[in-house]
Amino acid sequence: MLKIPLIALACVGLYAQTPAADTILTNGKIVTVDERFSIAQAVAIRGDRVVAVGTNQEITQLAGPNTRRMDLLGRTAIPGLIDNHMHLLRAAGTWTKELRFDGVESRRVAVEMLRARVKSIPPGEWIYNIGGWAHQQFADNAKPFTREELDQIAPANPVALQESYYQVFLNTRAMEVLKITANAPDPPEFLKGSILRDGAGKPTGVIQGDIAGTRVVASKLPRVAPEQLEASAEALLKAMNQAGLTSVGVPGCDADVLSIFENWKAAGHLNLRVFCMGGTAAGTPQTVDRSIQQIAGMKLFQGDSFIDNIAFGESVYSPLHDPMFALKSNPPADQLEQWKKMAMAIAQAGLPLHVHAELSGTIDAFLDQIEAVNKEHPIKNLRWQLAHVNQINAPQIERMKKLGMYAAVHPWAVINGGIMHEGFGDGAYDMPPLATLQNSGITWGLGTDGTAASQTRPFTTLYFAVTGKMVGGTKVIRQTISREDALIAHTRKNAYFVFQENNLGSIQRGKLADILVLDRDYLTIPADQIKDIKPVITMVGGRVVYDSTPRAAPSR
Ligand SMILES: [Zn+2]
Repeated sequence: MLKIPLIALACVGLYAQTPAADTILTNGKIVTVDERFSIAQAVAIRGDRVVAVGTNQEITQLAGPNTRRMDLLGRTAIPGLIDNHMHLLRAAGTWTKELRFDGVESRRVAVEMLRARVKSIPPGEWIYNIGGWAHQQFADNAKPFTREELDQIAPANPVALQESYYQVFLNTRAMEVLKITANAPDPPEFLKGSILRDGAGKPTGVIQGDIAGTRVVASKLPRVAPEQLEASAEALLKAMNQAGLTSVGVPGCDADVLSIFENWKAAGHLNLRVFCMGGTAAGTPQTVDRSIQQIAGMKLFQGDSFIDNIAFGESVYSPLHDPMFALKSNPPADQLEQWKKMAMAIAQAGLPLHVHAELSGTIDAFLDQIEAVNKEHPIKNLRWQLAHVNQINAPQIERMKKLGMYAAVHPWAVINGGIMHEGFGDGAYDMPPLATLQNSGITWGLGTDGTAASQTRPFTTLYFAVTGKMVGGTKVIRQTISREDALIAHTRKNAYFVFQENNLGSIQRGKLADILVLDRDYLTIPADQIKDIKPVITMVGGRVVYDSTPRAAPSR
């Protein structure tokens, strides 16, 4: 008896008393990225959510006298882009001090940027970046920097330019500060052999040795002062919004930066959604039991759609963490036994797992362990993810599908394609095998692994996925995918990775209004221009967080 009148009332309420939309976007090409990849003309937003998607006529009817009306003038809008794996919070500690080369395709431009920095800072102050580029991305002149060249550009400032985690280029002033000299042994904190010297024993200015070698330099570079951390974090988020990112999965959320984000959230102006992956990896058999105790006490999903903890990651047992530029792996049985103990505890606690796994040997070995774990504690609904997976193959993808696992794909070749071709030869053309992943039907999503290992810009990743070209334009992979599939992997599919598929990833009624308005049409411009797409408006939860349009604010 009661049910029918209640439903009737609800219907009347919907039509008679629905408040007007807060914002309507009309006259656009709305690429919704819904299940049918439908295209609409207009969107209505109320509060932080999309309330309707449709034609100009349908949506205009939802406007009232106080509705903000945004005429898209025919522009394309897409869902806010999600990166399922970026070391974002860590970067706040250096962001405003770094001279970033993300997406810089010209060596001449990079040198101009260095010269401009020299002019703008006092002598003695560091000029540096910590990854996000590689010299092969310079289309005009793809050669490494030399010490002499950097000395000529910056005679009075120490310079350290870190290429991904591959190598660092130092000038003479930097070597003096780091106490690297011709007539003395290497400072003890440097990885043995990482300081390259010429035949006469003179240091060349190049530091190599993968993460273990390059991070010694990075650890000695000045960070932003504590009182500047908030400003640096703000600049970082602005750069991400400007590049089109609205949500990020973050391995290892630094507590000091996270507390800044919590304050901004409480004040209603956190402009990026942050989904943390954490927990303590074991490093030795002796520390496994302690890590297992921590796993049993881990509490995830206590947050909301702006900040949450979503998974254990990204390392389980650190001796089995593939080095970035290793060419193959053969994980020892005793270490895998420790890895399995950890994974068993993670499954038993019912936690999602997001684990670094790059090389084929490692992926096979981890899948062996996970299949054993799955027999005791089924992981089917836990969304376990292998991350990076550039050397994954079709049989491994099938094993993952059977386990209900996802592939978090971070194409390191976007900047490191040249280095990978030197190491892997033609095998690098299938790293990652994007078409194989796409055709397999596995749930997979795109990310960058920025800010050091790779660059940070999502339209650069989309360009790579569609053209197979690294920054600078060299073709480095052969398995490309359609621009529709690439966009899905960077939006709707990634929403599953951050456990927000009901809120994020498409422009649909009921979802949060995270929307980009683009300066050109992603679906029709020449593929080589995808990297050049710039959002003119970035919206998070219905709030405009970035706006490059000439008018100061959208008209009301
Ligand atoms: Zn990793």
